Amino acid sequence: MSRFRVYAIRFAERDAFRGEHFHGYDARAGEPHTTAYYIWLAISDQHTVVIDTGIGPDRAAAIAGLRYRTTPVAALAALDVTADAVDHVVLTHLHYDHTGTARDFENATYVIQETEIDYWTSPWATRILRESWLIEDDDLAHLQSAEAHGRVVLTTGDATIVPGLSVHLVGGHTEGMQVVRLQTAIGSIVLASDASHFYENIEDDRPFPILSTTTGTYAAFDRIKQIADSPDHIVPGHDPLVLDRFPRLTPDIAIIAD
Ligand SMILES: [Zn+2]
Ligand SMILES: [Zn+2]
Repeated sequence: MSRFRVYAIRFAERDAFRGEHFHGYDARAGEPHTTAYYIWLAISDQHTVVIDTGIGPDRAAAIAGLRYRTTPVAALAALDVTADAVDHVVLTHLHYDHTGTARDFENATYVIQETEIDYWTSPWATRILRESWLIEDDDLAHLQSAEAHGRVVLTTGDATIVPGLSVHLVGGHTEGMQVVRLQTAIGSIVLASDASHFYENIEDDRPFPILSTTTGTYAAFDRIKQIADSPDHIVPGHDPLVLDRFPRLTPDIAIIAD
C-alpha cells in the first residue's frame, strides 16, 4: 500500500479583513483576518509530488502587504527535496498564487483539470475583469507549452494519478477546481486548497467571495466531506490555523501526516 508523508509549507502571509474571506456582509466583516499562502509536499516510497506552486518572487514583490518569507523551491530545499526530484506537480486550479513557480519543476508532469485550462483560455477569462489579476499570463503560457510537449495530464473528474494520490473535480471556486486526496498513516486526507480557503468556510458553510458558482462552492464542501476520513482530515488552502491544528516541523511547516 502506498502511503504518503504530507507537509503544508507556508511561504507567505498577508493581513486582510474577514469581509474579504466570507461571502455576505456581517457585523465582523471589518475584523482583521490574516491569510496564509501554502504549497503542499507529498512523498511516498515511489513518488515526490508537489501540490500547487505558490507565488514567484517577481509577482510577490508587486503584491502590497505580502510578507514573502521564501520561494517555494527554497522551502522544499529545507526538507531536502530538490525541484528536479519532483515527478508530479498537481495544480488545484490556475490562480496566480498556485501556479507561480510551476516552471521551476523541470522534470515534473503537471496535473490539471481539462475544464480549468479550457476556462482560462476561453473568452470569459478575458472578458471578466476580475480574472485578469487572478491569472498570471506567463504561467498559463508555460503550461500550454508544457501541454504541447506532452508534460500535462489533463484530468476530467476523478482520477488516480499515482498509487495513493487521487484528484477530484469539485469546481465552485473556479470552473476546474480540483482537490487532492492522499492515503496516509492517519487515513485519507484531503487537500482542499481554495475549495475551502479557511476552516470556517467549510465548517460554517460560508463560501469565500471569489467564486465561479455559488452552488458549486457548496457542492464542493459536500464532496470534500464525503471523501475525507473525517473533518480533521481536511486541510484548507489559506488558513494560518493549519500550523496550529497539525504539529509543526518548523514555524512555517506543518506535518499533516508522517
Ligand atoms: Zn484561488
Ligand atoms: Zn489561493
